[in-house]
Amino acid sequence: MSSLVYLHPSLATDYKKTFKEFHDFTLSCGSPMGTILVSSRTICHKCERPLSVEQKKNMVVFYHINLGSYVSCRLTKVCRKCKIYEHYGYWTEKGSRYFDKDSLELKFLLSSEDTAFDICLLRECSSLLMVGAVPFSTYTASYNRRFGYHKGKVIVDKSKPKRMKR
Ligand SMILES: [Zn+2]
Repeated sequence: MSSLVYLHPSLATDYKKTFKEFHDFTLSCGSPMGTILVSSRTICHKCERPLSVEQKKNMVVFYHINLGSYVSCRLTKVCRKCKIYEHYGYWTEKGSRYFDKDSLELKFLLSSEDTAFDICLLRECSSLLMVGAVPFSTYTASYNRRFGYHKGKVIVDKSKPKRMKR
């Protein structure tokens, strides 16, 4: 990291700006890569054969504690013999999902196929919820306000409430 900062001093002074420029550049190229989530596992945990990386990149919406939300991607590794698919923090086998023991020690929690939360953001949110400091809706409103997502128009549905089917 220190040699990277030596080569690109702007990384040390304005990380957010540099990240946004890089993210926006990769997005304009049609392949957002601000953050790439991929399992660190290199061999299959069942047969110990090398895993291969699938070509397809899957889009993921990230919720970062300091950078706000952005679009990026994840990669999948696979053992074709065992039909085990390795993802960032978990693997899938025969339609079931198994989390890695260290999944909560990673930087992000891949909560669905296309959503990733910064673990620090989840810890901060859960801590505030546990002490009853704020309700979840207030926390999300605060997050949206901090990153300027509150400026959009509020859509009010003035149509009559739909009748519920009995
Ligand atoms: Zn295998």
